[in-house]
Amino acid sequence: MTKPGRVFSIEEFSTFDGPGIRMTVFLKGCPLRCPWCHNPEGQRFAVEYLRARNGCTGYCAPEMFERVLAVCDFVLYDLKLYDAGAHKAVCGVDNTLILHNYRTLVRSGKAFITRVPLIPGITDTEENLTALAAFMRDCGVTAAEVLPYNSLQGSKYASLLRQYAFIPGKEIPPERVELIFSSFGIRADRI
Ligand code: SF4
Repeated sequence: MTKPGRVFSIEEFSTFDGPGIRMTVFLKGCPLRCPWCHNPEGQRFAVEYLRARNGCTGYCAPEMFERVLAVCDFVLYDLKLYDAGAHKAVCGVDNTLILHNYRTLVRSGKAFITRVPLIPGITDTEENLTALAAFMRDCGVTAAEVLPYNSLQGSKYASLLRQYAFIPGKEIPPERVELIFSSFGIRADRI
C-alpha cells in the first residue's frame, strides 16, 4: 500500500548536497535514528514546523529503491557504518538493505556520489572507515565525499522540544581518513 509523502522543506536555490544548483525537496519520515542527526524534524512523519536541508539513507525495500532509482538522474548516497550490529545499535536499523541498495545503485550506471559522514568516535573509527572503503572498493567505487562533523548539529532540537544528547568522541585526523580510503584506491574529498 502506498501513502503520500510529506514535505518538510523546499530549498529553491540549493547549492549544497551535490553538484550544481537545484530545487531540493525534503521529505519527512526517515526510518533511521542517528543520534547526531541535524534534521530531527525529518525523522518523524507527523507535522512539525521548522526548516532544514539534507539527503540521506537508502533504507527501503529493493523493489521500491529500484522504482525510485529509475526516475533519478543523480543520487547522493550515505554510508555510515559497515557493521550491521553497530548500525542497528547506533542508527536504529540494520544496514543490510542499505548495502544491498548501494550495490544496485553502483550497478545501475546512474551518476551518484557516496557520502561518508565522519562522526567522531562512531563512524570515523579506523575499523569502520577501513570496512567501508573495502566494501566500496569491492563494489568498484573509486571516489567518496567525507563530511566532517558539524558541532552546531544539535541546534534544532530545542525548537522540537527534544534534547540533543549526542556527545562526539575524538576526531580522526583528516590525513588518516585520506590514507585509509586511498589504500583501497578511493579518493576521499572533504566537503
Ligand atoms: S542523519 Fe540522515 S539518515 Fe540519520 S536520522 Fe538524520 S536524516 Fe535520517
